[in-house]
Amino acid sequence: MLDDAFKQMGLSEIILTALEKKGFEKPTQIQSETIPLMLSDDRDIIGQAQTGTGKTAAFGLPIIEMLNPGSKDVQALVLTPTRELTIQVANELHELKGAKPLNITPIYGGQSIEKQIKQLRRPNDIIIGTPGRLIDHLKAKKLNLSQVKYVVLDEADEMLNGGFIEDIEFILSQTNSDRKTLLFSATMPSAILQLAKKYMNEYITIKTKKETLATTLTEQIYFEVRESDKLEALCRIIDVEDDFYGLIFCRTKRDVDTINE
Ligand code: AMP
Repeated sequence: MLDDAFKQMGLSEIILTALEKKGFEKPTQIQSETIPLMLSDDRDIIGQAQTGTGKTAAFGLPIIEMLNPGSKDVQALVLTPTRELTIQVANELHELKGAKPLNITPIYGGQSIEKQIKQLRRPNDIIIGTPGRLIDHLKAKKLNLSQVKYVVLDEADEMLNGGFIEDIEFILSQTNSDRKTLLFSATMPSAILQLAKKYMNEYITIKTKKETLATTLTEQIYFEVRESDKLEALCRIIDVEDDFYGLIFCRTKRDVDTINE
């Protein structure tokens, strides 16, 4: 059941229905602080929040609430450091919009350029993407960001670590200077604050306590092993568990192939 805290935020029925369907009950801290502020205050926002705190809905819900369907122009842009996050954010926003007729399009490297060009010819309200591929489309004049109302820099510290600073600056230079900018980052190194100073208007900072939704039902264990023993150790863990269902994350394609074998 949806809690009153969600109902009193100023979100419309169509969005509340989507939240109910998604099984949300109470807003998380970053959501309680960001959503009402976004809906009532013109200032930009910096949110210090990690993955798992509900930050996607914190920026996604008010943006979805405030966009008017039927525009020919891209109205909101979310920049993320990786294709995985792009897909994850696009899926989450797609669920959060419920029945509101907004077009949400992920654009990332590794996907067919032609397919993306076709998608970009159609009206798109919200584009989520990785900087490199977005720049390709901007330079080819397949993407026009001159009318965007909202720009979100998601996992900004990861984007800076990934060396995307110049790409981000180029993309921001192609957007409407009247936009509202939101920056989310788990850490706040000085490079992030410089970026904010340069590209954001007056902003409010929201800090969250360490709270993670995604991990409350998950026991976390780590094993220290030598590099050369890792695969063997993993095989033993899988062997001793009766039911091993899992996701294995690797750093390189080669590791994925080896483990898969
Ligand atoms: P995020 O930090 O945005 O990556 O969200 C982490 C996960 O928490 C996602 O699966 C969300 O759907 C979920 N989530 C976000 N907000 C809430 C909420 N208020 N109640 C329950 N789950 C939530």
